[in-house]
Amino acid sequence: MAIKIDIQKTQKSRIDSVDFDNLPFGHVFSDHMFECEFKDGKWQSAVIKEYAPISLSPAAKIFHYGQSIFEGMKAYKDADGKTMLFRPLDNCKRLNKSAERLVIPEIPEDIFMEGLKTLLEIDSDWIPTKEGSSLYIRPFMFASGEGFHASPADEYKLIICTAPSGAYFAGEVKVLIEEKYARAANGGVGFAKAGGNYAAQFYPTQLAIDKGYQQVIWTDDNTHQFIEEAGAMNIFVRINDTLITSPTSDRILDGITRKSILQIAADTGIETEVRKISVGEVVEAAKTGKLKEMFGAGTAAVISPIAGFGFKDEDFDLPELENPFASQLKKRITDIQTNKAEDPYGWRVFV
Ligand SMILES: *Cc1c(COP(=O)(O)O)cnc(C)c1O
Repeated sequence: MAIKIDIQKTQKSRIDSVDFDNLPFGHVFSDHMFECEFKDGKWQSAVIKEYAPISLSPAAKIFHYGQSIFEGMKAYKDADGKTMLFRPLDNCKRLNKSAERLVIPEIPEDIFMEGLKTLLEIDSDWIPTKEGSSLYIRPFMFASGEGFHASPADEYKLIICTAPSGAYFAGEVKVLIEEKYARAANGGVGFAKAGGNYAAQFYPTQLAIDKGYQQVIWTDDNTHQFIEEAGAMNIFVRINDTLITSPTSDRILDGITRKSILQIAADTGIETEVRKISVGEVVEAAKTGKLKEMFGAGTAAVISPIAGFGFKDEDFDLPELENPFASQLKKRITDIQTNKAEDPYGWRVFV
């Protein structure tokens, strides 16, 4: 690989203080983190060291101009104790797509993969094995270089931290179809996992929570007539027996779960359509009983079923089905992720 990793193992592991039977999601952090610095026009040597606070200049551009991007992925252990990742190169490619849009230097794939794999080997004991749990992995890159001038920084950091996490369970999710705010616009950064996108979601999401919903269904910024994403997840709608999701665009993030679901659905005989979904169509389908399911798709929850939605002061409940597509697809994808089923796609990567 292009650079050397300096490994500085902690003298005092915290692992004995962790209750692996009651893990929250993304709140307990493993012993080590990977860090690589971009300086003098190139990625410098990397280090794996104790997970600890980092020190930054108050003038670091991350704080002022929000040059910050991230990824979310998971590692699993199979019954034999082997560690696996799910389509990790896709995360690296997407991180670099986000990087390009935010004028952050791209990370070479070999540095990313080698850093990640070495970190997982060192913190292998932190990968939970309980059903539904996994090691959540958070790679992120940000501007550490300083200056108050509104221009890209000259120094950056890539850090990878991990968090042993229990199953992500949101409970009964009721969502509100957004009519005023937007998470992304044409020509903007919606397709990138840029930190600011999420900060901008918090306020409209809080308004929805205040009204008794848990999440917002984002609509297009221009007309608010087409549904685009569910919170920070891609959205799927089942009308009769057809599973529909919106096409990716400037505004819609190209989710790895989304495209895996499309592939699995097609291969298991579920009819799929990738096309714009109008709010009117969803409301009409709900009124006539044709709307069978809605769910969000993303790495954290894999599939998060939606129990009902609100639109213009009216609430619509979704039916409770015997064997919904959401459960079938979630089982199939998690079986592949955790090596309980054949992986005809070559999605699993052993560490
Ligand atoms: C991360 C993310 C997703 C899901 O992507 P995955 O690769 O499936 O985890 C969907 N929408 C938004 C806005 C996201 O940030």
